[in-house]
Amino acid sequence: MNSPKRIAVKVGSNVLTRPDGRLDISRMAALVDQIAELHHRGMEIMLVSSGAVASGRGALPHLKDESVAGRQLFAAVGQAKLIEHYCDLFQEYGITVGQILTTKENFVNESLKANQMRCMTAMLDNGVIPVINENDTVSVEELMFTDNDELSGLVARMMKAQVLVILSNVDGVFTGNPDDPASELIHDVRPGDDYSSCVGSSKSQFGRGGMMTKMKTALGVAADGIEVRIANGRRQDVLLNVLTDPEKAVCTRFHAK
Ligand code: GLU
Repeated sequence: MNSPKRIAVKVGSNVLTRPDGRLDISRMAALVDQIAELHHRGMEIMLVSSGAVASGRGALPHLKDESVAGRQLFAAVGQAKLIEHYCDLFQEYGITVGQILTTKENFVNESLKANQMRCMTAMLDNGVIPVINENDTVSVEELMFTDNDELSGLVARMMKAQVLVILSNVDGVFTGNPDDPASELIHDVRPGDDYSSCVGSSKSQFGRGGMMTKMKTALGVAADGIEVRIANGRRQDVLLNVLTDPEKAVCTRFHAK
């Protein structure tokens, strides 16, 4: 595959958050550097970024409230901080970003979906990078995306991306527990391959997802014709490598059907 033109990139909470729950600004800056480089090479990037709830928790350390209202409060505070940092970091490169907060309904109802798609298309047509997250301030359990992995898959499909990159805190899908030295990274998953028995159900510390949901999203999106690459967002130059030299990059590729 030549370099893809339109790409959705999903960054998980665990990539963007320090162990104490605050936003990891240097990590954000490293990712923004790479996205800016790809943008200047002519790629259209849509950034699906988690981190709102985690960053809100970090901003209000005295508050221990995991109720729905508590989560909404963390998201309200944390999303503002998140987008402020993205605006400032991209500004350094003369790139404008726009914020899209969405809910599941916007992908289910056809007229809402068309409306949302029009907005994202207008942003891309005008060189604006959409920074997308679930609107956690209004989402309620029954109507939530499973996690931002699912959201990124929906965005990639809706916008007809050629590649979806999911950045996590592991290198990809392993043949066993990633912490076990005997486990090996699976580099290529082709249509029909079944590695589901390799993946445990454990979740990351700050995000809602886990490798299970990443794999589920990846298989579904690849079956719809979009290649998915899962990689470690903490690796240096990960996005540049994964998007320009995927054969050699440390990642798991789910080849499109
Ligand atoms: N939308 C949530 C946030 O930004 C994260 C959901 C997830 O962990 O996938 O905090």
